[in-house]
Amino acid sequence: MNRIYNFSAGPAQLPLEVLQEAQREMLDYRGTGMSVMEMSHRGKEFGGIIAAAEEDLRALARIPDGYKVLFLQGGASLQFAMVPMNLMKNRVADYIVTGQWAKKAAKEAAIYGEAHILASSEDRTFSYIPDLSALSVSPDADYVYICENNTIYGTKYGELPDTKGKPLVSDMSSCFLSEPFDVTKYGLIFAGAQKNIGPAGTVVVIVREDLVTEDVLPGTPTMLRYAVHAKERSMYNTPPCYGIYICGKVFRWLLKRGGLREVGRANAEKAKVLYDFLDSSRLFRPTVTGKDRSLMNVPFVTGSAELDGLFVAEAAKEGLVNLKGHRTVGGMRASIYNAMPKEGVEALVRFMEKFEREHGGERHGV
Ligand SMILES: *Cc1c(COP(=O)(O)O)cnc(C)c1O
Repeated sequence: MNRIYNFSAGPAQLPLEVLQEAQREMLDYRGTGMSVMEMSHRGKEFGGIIAAAEEDLRALARIPDGYKVLFLQGGASLQFAMVPMNLMKNRVADYIVTGQWAKKAAKEAAIYGEAHILASSEDRTFSYIPDLSALSVSPDADYVYICENNTIYGTKYGELPDTKGKPLVSDMSSCFLSEPFDVTKYGLIFAGAQKNIGPAGTVVVIVREDLVTEDVLPGTPTMLRYAVHAKERSMYNTPPCYGIYICGKVFRWLLKRGGLREVGRANAEKAKVLYDFLDSSRLFRPTVTGKDRSLMNVPFVTGSAELDGLFVAEAAKEGLVNLKGHRTVGGMRASIYNAMPKEGVEALVRFMEKFEREHGGERHGV
């Protein structure tokens, strides 16, 4: 077996233990004689799998009663539509645009109503989180929307905006369960699985009960109503069974690691190894500085597109793969989600040091 360090932004590396356990259970799930992919979603075994996944997620994130947990399909992007269809009663919402994902979400919401851009960091390629101190939240806004960790640009909110009492909706896809967070500060949280918790397609939604109503925008399909999925406990139709099963194993793995406080501590320590190196490097430069830095996605450049390309190619030969940055930023990006061990980041830094010695006599183009 030859496992590499996969720095992909998503679908991303999953914990080896989780994959191995799934492998052991692949052909015969706990004496049932079948795989989880082959069993009825209405049966007792799968009932146990989804119930345990929810219970473990509730324990991990300390999700209070009063919040529903839904396992849905369509990835994070379908939430860009489901959120306004279900929540935009006044047809007004405020969006803080800190990257491509928030921008797409705002554009989708504009199909259904007025999507105000409260603040944006597009002027500097989304390399920072805008000042949140004087937001003019619309008096009739149905919610305020943020993308909490910007996967492409490597920024994360250090504090949440004051929404003046409006429900806060957060796309947590790329920082979900990476550190402790206070669910009660949010109206709705969603996270596509393939960044930090499981296979693509599955999306977890945590939503405050008072926001789950039958009062949705006219024309909202049955499948896109939170109330339908909440009532049927994510079993209105066949849920993404295998995805939920893997997510459940990841939740269990996180609990075994000591929960989110411990996971957050480990993530901070891991990210520090890379940021400390970047801050002192003669060749590599981080594109985000200071308090807005993400612990999950770390973009960096050399200043020379040619050297960037060489770096990505040479790193891959060393088993450090998927380091190419997003096309809108260029350069490199190391995604170091929960499943990336500290050894992976240390191996990356060692390789960067070597590359710097060979190519970094002077800084290129900065
Ligand atoms: C990847 C990502 C998405 C899109 O996820 P899909 O499951 O492909 O729709 C949305 N938001 C964020 C923050 C992401 O990182």
